Amino acid sequence: MVTSVCQNCGSRRFRADRSMAGRLVCQVCGLAAGSRANRTTIRPSGRSRQQRWRWLVGLVIVVILIAVVMG
Ligand SMILES: [Zn+2]
Repeated sequence: MVTSVCQNCGSRRFRADRSMAGRLVCQVCGLAAGSRANRTTIRPSGRSRQQRWRWLVGLVIVVILIAVVMG
């Protein structure tokens, strides 16, 4: 193991967290092993993808509304 001691609280007890993709998480403070406090993993492409998805949903809604108005 690369990290055996928690960098936040110094605990040596870890568990594999399924919500953190199987990463080791400190049992005392809940911080992921090998990471410091107040640091979260953010995917750079997630936001633009979500905006594109929202735009598509809006387009579908407009098409449905036009179809309803046209009878
Ligand atoms: Zn800890």
